Amino acid sequence: MASVTIRQVAKSYGDVQVMHGIDLDIEDGEFVVFVGPSGCGKSTLLRMIAGLEEISGGTVSIADEVVNDVAPAKRGVAMVFQTYALYPHMDVYKNMAFGLRQAKTPEEEIDRRVRKAADVLHITDYLHRTPKALSGGQRQRVAIGRAIVREPEVFLFDEPLSNLDAALRVQTRLEIARLHERLGATMIYVTHDQVEAMTLADKIVVLRDGRIEQVGSPIDLYERPDNAFVAQFIGSPKMNFFAPSILAETAPTILGSRLDGNVTVGIRPEHLRRTDGDDVVISAKLELIEHLGEYALVHLICEDGTEFIAKSEHPPTEKAGETLHFTCKPELVHVFDKETGARL
Ligand code: ADP
Ligand code: MG
Repeated sequence: MASVTIRQVAKSYGDVQVMHGIDLDIEDGEFVVFVGPSGCGKSTLLRMIAGLEEISGGTVSIADEVVNDVAPAKRGVAMVFQTYALYPHMDVYKNMAFGLRQAKTPEEEIDRRVRKAADVLHITDYLHRTPKALSGGQRQRVAIGRAIVREPEVFLFDEPLSNLDAALRVQTRLEIARLHERLGATMIYVTHDQVEAMTLADKIVVLRDGRIEQVGSPIDLYERPDNAFVAQFIGSPKMNFFAPSILAETAPTILGSRLDGNVTVGIRPEHLRRTDGDDVVISAKLELIEHLGEYALVHLICEDGTEFIAKSEHPPTEKAGETLHFTCKPELVHVFDKETGARL
């Protein structure tokens, strides 16, 4: 196991700089998730840690050793790719054994590690099948097995679940969480899916345009996003944003926050509560209701066209077009600078 330390790491392709001075500390045994929209630099950062991309500036250290010039195979890392990258003509056993054979590991040791990994991942019955005779989920487990047998200090996952269907994604996500519990290894996991980030991470790193927006535990990011970008990225459905001018006249008294024209007010759908009292924060017309069984998503539209969602266990009985009133506890309201998006 090992820590990973990233200092002022930059990456350019020709004259285009895509990563801008990244600083990050990953502790020994930590499960860290890089999350952000497509193109923000998640894979590039992961691949620089793996040694698959040259580092244009700054340093990457693994277990306190700078590895900028260390070959990928010598870094003590193993990477699992979205596309699995299995050898199609080799059976599962040979796919998992391949890296160890390259490294001239003794056959008994290879056999021990492959069987142990197969057992952990429940793929023992498929050891002599080729990848084309496996389902997507089974292939992904083989790809994970190939990383496990190398007994790396650091596991690197690049969107490993993206090619799986929804049910299998949930199941494999759980298996990865169990694997982390069991191995206690450092894991760095890239995804654009905030649910994967929230459920797997000890620490989430939110990236945007080659820069870190915020680093924190899932709960930190949910409860205290540093800016409007993180606020909208973490949580589902997304946080609602309101101009103060659209809020009820009573809103400033109830929320107790500075609500002038220079701010944007953020309220999560799950924090809006129906009210018929004098504590109204926002009123709007009911547009439609999505019934999801356990709860409903109530879609609303304000006079100025602002749309928002309220999440409710008790869906309204009103009809589309009727006006509903909502309130919110002051401690659950987020206020951001309208221009910079920074939390105030
Ligand atoms: P993510 O994994 O977050 O979707 P990437 O790390 O793949 O994003 O890409 C980050 C940025 O770097 C993007 O703007 C992408 O277009 C650019 N990029 C990635 N690889 C290359 C490359 N080989 N040549 C030029 N630009 C690249
Ligand atoms: Mg990527």
